[in-house]
Order: sequence, then C-alpha cells, then structure tokens
Amino acid sequence: MFDKYNYTCVERFLRYVQADTQSDPQSTGSPSTQKQKNFSHILVNELLAIGVTDAHLDEFGYVYATIPSNTDKKVPVICFCSHVDTAPDCSGTDVKPILHEKYDGKDIVLPDDTTQVISVKEFKYLKKHIGDDIITAGGNTLLGADDKAGVAEIMDLANFLMTHPEVKHGTIKLLFTPDEEIGKGTANLDMNKLAADFGYTLDGAQSGILEDETFNADAIMITINGVIAHPGYAKGRLVNALKIAGEILAALPKKEFSPETTKKREGFVHPVRVDGLAEKATIEFIVRDFTRKGLKANTERLQKITEKVLHKHPKAKMEFKVVEQYRNMKEVLDKHPQVIEYAEEAYKRSKLKVKKQSIRGGTDGSRLSFMGLPCPNLFTGMQAIHSKKEWIGVRDMKKAVEVMVNLVQVWENQDNDLASQNHDFLD
Ligand SMILES: [Zn+2]
Repeated sequence: MFDKYNYTCVERFLRYVQADTQSDPQSTGSPSTQKQKNFSHILVNELLAIGVTDAHLDEFGYVYATIPSNTDKKVPVICFCSHVDTAPDCSGTDVKPILHEKYDGKDIVLPDDTTQVISVKEFKYLKKHIGDDIITAGGNTLLGADDKAGVAEIMDLANFLMTHPEVKHGTIKLLFTPDEEIGKGTANLDMNKLAADFGYTLDGAQSGILEDETFNADAIMITINGVIAHPGYAKGRLVNALKIAGEILAALPKKEFSPETTKKREGFVHPVRVDGLAEKATIEFIVRDFTRKGLKANTERLQKITEKVLHKHPKAKMEFKVVEQYRNMKEVLDKHPQVIEYAEEAYKRSKLKVKKQSIRGGTDGSRLSFMGLPCPNLFTGMQAIHSKKEWIGVRDMKKAVEVMVNLVQVWENQDNDLASQNHDFLD
C-alpha cells in the first residue's frame, strides 16, 4: 500500500509545483488563500499513507506531523519547517515544470515565453550543474521552488525515515506553514502543539549555505498633521502636510542609508508607502540592521531628519511610531550553539563545505527563534526565486535530504565527541 506514495524527492517536487499556492497580501483571511489549504491537504494524505499517523491540517492552514523517536536515548525534539505558499510577485497558476536532464551548459529558452532565457552568464551557479539535471518552469510563471523544494525535501525525509528504521533519531516534528511570503507565516502557529525544542527551516539557496543570521527589523509610521484652510484665503495659515512629507523624503541621504546603496552588513531605512491629503499625510518606512544598536541608530537618524524638517513648520504636528517586526535570530542561536554546530556536522558528513551566511531579510525562523524555537535556515537548492527564470538543481535537492538524514542522526548521537571525528571536505 505504501508503493503508491513512495515518490522520490524530484517526483514529489514536479507534482507539488503544479499546485497553485500563491498567497495574497490583500486578503484578511487565515490562510490568505484557500488554495494553500487544498495543497496542504494533499501533504497530509501522503503523510498518513506512509504511516505518519498524527499528520493533520488545522483551520489556519498549518500542517503538523510527528515522526516518533526510534531510540532509547533522550534526544531533543527537532522540527523541520517549510512554507507551502509561493510569492505574490509572479504568477503561480498553471506552473509547467520542465526537467532538463544532463544540462549541457547552453542557454535555456523557456518554451512558453521565449524572451525568458536562463544562461550561465546570468547565473554563475548554473555552471556547477552542467551534466546534472535541473528543473525550470515553462516561461509564464515562477517555478515555486521557493518553497516547494523545501516541502518536497522534508516529505522525502519523512518517507526515508519511515522506511529506514535502522536510522536512529529522536522525535521529529514536521511543520508546513502558509503565508510566509506575505510575512504571516507564524501568525497562527501553535507552539504548544508543535512542542519542539529546536528547528530548521528549509528555505535557503545553493547547497552548503547555512543561514544563522537575519536583519533586525522595525516598521516606522510618520504621521504629519498640517493646518487646513480654504486655499483662496490661506495665506499665512495653511500648512500642507503633503509638502512636508515630500520634504522629508527629499531630505533622506542619497548615497547611503538606503537599500539601493547598501550591501553586506550595512543596514538601511526605506520608505515603502506614502498616503495623504493636504491636511494629513503618512509615510511608512521599514528600518533594518544586523545589530540592535544599529537599528536604534538608524531609527534615531530618521527621527532627526524628520524633526529638522518639522522645525521649519512650527504649526505642523508630527507623530513618529515604531513597530517591531522581527529580530536577528543569531541572538537566540548564540545561546544554543549546538543547533548550528550539529548542522555544520551534518553538512560535513554530507561532503559539503559549510558556507555560513547572513540574510539581508527575515525568515520564518527569525520569528520562530524568538517564539522559543531556535531555528536557522538550511539550503534547498532554489535559485532566481520569485521570477520566471526560477530554477533548481536536482543534485542540491538530494543533498538537502541527505543533510537532514545526517542531522537527525547527529542529534541522536549528541553525546559523541564530534570534534574527534575526521571528515573529507569537498568544494
Ligand atoms: Zn521562501
């Protein structure tokens, strides 16, 4: 009875990407789109069919499932998590995945829109996949490897562990979340029900990358209240909030302090929305930095710029509101160094060179880490995400599964002295 569901990771992936699971930032529902639930329902049925008996979908679109421990040792409960939704930036309807066997290194012209060309010139990492299989979409849609790759890899891990009892592991929790792409991936997550000690999101790019750091992130809303008067009789009285908003935007530094002028470990301030009337205007900003100190400094700098402008308009009033978005997961991970150490060990056992990396953004893991589940991000293989040129190497997908299989064993074997073991390294 299990044969029917005994798909390989790639077979699963090719099937999963054909399900439209796009999330919708305008929706007020949880999840934001019903189609995410339709897909997650399929995942539950497949988990039940391979013997993961407690797999279920809740009203908010989360899939929870447990692979029971098969060891006598007391091992922390480890969760593997990925998101089922695809980005609203690019169509996810009628995805037609194409498996390019033994990729020859030539430009790949996508058949449904021949202006979409995937080349080694644009994607250097593609060169490393010459001779191997890669997967692209047809040209009209994204592929959805972000994050169906993570989903397929975790499902393959589940299948592997259920069919290989000789591989020893503690309790493994599987979690599939909706709405990550619209920043609501953990909004309705039940941490008590999940009951895991440590977690890993499968939502990273090329093999070997291990992401243990994200931005600190706040949103800032500046409200300017002007003074309104009949424009025909407004001399000396009217104070136009829209013009003040324009002055604030014009006063922002041009060569630094913005997403378009920063990279690596530099933070920034970024206006994302302006609304208003002559009487009252609002500017929404996002502010980012890897350190809390830097985040505070960026916020204070923006406040000073704003106050300086307002100073020229004494009759106008200004409100400056800061809302926390997420914090750098590294703060939490540094208190639980084994989460990263064991991941590094699993990469090495999988013959991968570890590339630790910071994300100039956030993941579900940043929020999960501060919700009590320290949770770095592992690679899945996904490339050129949120675009029609999205692609993934089959070798990376298989490696991601191998890493997880090694990782559960490292956790089971945690009393062993990892440092004393020798391993081969590959580039
Ligand atoms: Zn993602």
